[in-house]
Amino acid sequence: MAKSVKRRLRGVVIMENSYDVIIIGAGLSGLSAAHFLAKLSHADLRVAIIEKTSRPGGAIKTFNSEGYQGEWGPHGFLDNTPESQELLRDIDLYREAQQAPLGDFFRYICHRGHLERLPQSLSTALKTPLIPLGGKLRVMADLWKRPKMEDQTIADWVNYRFGPAILPLADAAVSGTFAGDFNRLSIDAVMPGVRALEKETGSVLRGIIKKKRVARGGASKLARLPSMLNFPAGMERLVKALADKKEIKYNAAVKGVRRDKIWTVSTEAGEFKAAQLIMALPVNQALRLLTAFKAPPVVEIPTARIINVVMGLPDSARVPYGFGYLAPEREHRFAIGAMFTSHMFPGRSPRACRLIEVLVGGRRHPEHLSLSDSEIEGQAVEDIRSLIDLPEPPLFTRVLRTEHAIPQLEMDHPALLRWRRSMESDLPDLYICGFGWDGIGMNDMIKSARKTAAAVVAGGERQVEELQVKPVYF
Ligand SMILES: Cc1cc2nc3c(=O)[nH]c(=O)nc-3n(C[C@H](O)[C@H](O)[C@H](O)COP(=O)(O)OP(=O)(O)OC[C@H]3O[C@@H](n4cnc5c(N)ncnc54)[C@H](O)[C@@H]3O)c2cc1C
Repeated sequence: MAKSVKRRLRGVVIMENSYDVIIIGAGLSGLSAAHFLAKLSHADLRVAIIEKTSRPGGAIKTFNSEGYQGEWGPHGFLDNTPESQELLRDIDLYREAQQAPLGDFFRYICHRGHLERLPQSLSTALKTPLIPLGGKLRVMADLWKRPKMEDQTIADWVNYRFGPAILPLADAAVSGTFAGDFNRLSIDAVMPGVRALEKETGSVLRGIIKKKRVARGGASKLARLPSMLNFPAGMERLVKALADKKEIKYNAAVKGVRRDKIWTVSTEAGEFKAAQLIMALPVNQALRLLTAFKAPPVVEIPTARIINVVMGLPDSARVPYGFGYLAPEREHRFAIGAMFTSHMFPGRSPRACRLIEVLVGGRRHPEHLSLSDSEIEGQAVEDIRSLIDLPEPPLFTRVLRTEHAIPQLEMDHPALLRWRRSMESDLPDLYICGFGWDGIGMNDMIKSARKTAAAVVAGGERQVEELQVKPVYF
């Protein structure tokens, strides 16, 4: 396999700034693609990563101040994806990772102004006050509801299949992952695997039961809840380890790309050439560079920005044991939710202090982003104080504003994915992965980067994978 790549790539005259493969973007996607290219090709491919800024990691950045360690971007990713497990083993970070098992921690939903535990098992689900009895029975109607073939918003889909009582939980789940609005996100784009199962078996519940039976037949392992992972030095540890020994051209914002037998990438730091081009950029940044080749169905997709308020609390604060909480929109809270970081990943605050990280803004409340830091701090503290017993004021607060926004897979996303497929079939030496294409989570990025690297190594042959049913964890 690797030989055929080399044969194709040998057509390129090796010059300075000339590579077998250029990757645009040194975020998690680009770095993972470079890692898997090196691993899978077994060949001496010349790979360069072109990066706009002076650091690797894109959205992934760890904050440290006065003994508090928070995150500008992702706070954790689940250990349930084989591609991520492989990556961590390859770079010897698996053992270093801090694990917060979902089965050991409570998660909370803000319900009628106080924190209510999210049920973790069928027996607790039957008793939970979060869903009235009628609502619990209505969930079963999914078994008889004929699948609607057309795309729907997540809210419409949940309402149709499981009933209105489930909407606040779905809302919270969407806020916790996308910082999004479930009245706008597309069910086909966000959960293609679940939709395929629904259409195939006529019901989501029936499909899941069938899948579980098949899985049990194949393996005797008991399903365990996954763990959330981060690293003692923060999430930046992962991208720094991946960036090590890679050829990365920093401070080289790409202005344009053109293709004339091979690719020419024009940047602020000069031109680079390659036979194969991987765009590992968030959807909107990629669209800007690719529109000239073929007009996409939309020039830009919506994004959601969030602010993280890092809050250090004295020991007297009675932070409930668990991961944190999420607030459905109907609760009309200032914060989307908060992570109880000290419980999840101990060691990120000075001794006898606790750390929580409060999330503000998102797709529904961009107006909160334009408040001043002191207004945000004040409102976040008030919001938390009304949910958690805080006998003393916080010891530390810091407002982290990141320019990285979460792409929203809304109703035009399926059309955008069709456009990407047609671009990649017109231009077989172009590969598109990155933030917002095949999902938004870190596991989605690593999985998609591996698939991309495998396609490059296979000389442009892209594997069509079975759609996966991803469990929803808050
Ligand atoms: C606030 C926030 C919280 C999140 N929380 C979680 C979480 O808890 N768990 C989880 O799994 N995921 C989370 N995510 C998602 C996760 O961060 C992303 O999946 C991942 O970091 C995306 O990586 P990427 O490389 O695709 O994109 P990016 O990180 O955006 O990297 C793209 C890179 O390309 C560079 N670039 C852009 N334009 C150009 C150009 N023209 N030329 C050259 N370089 C360019 C950028 O500088 C950047 O370095 C969160 C994201 C955000 C923003």
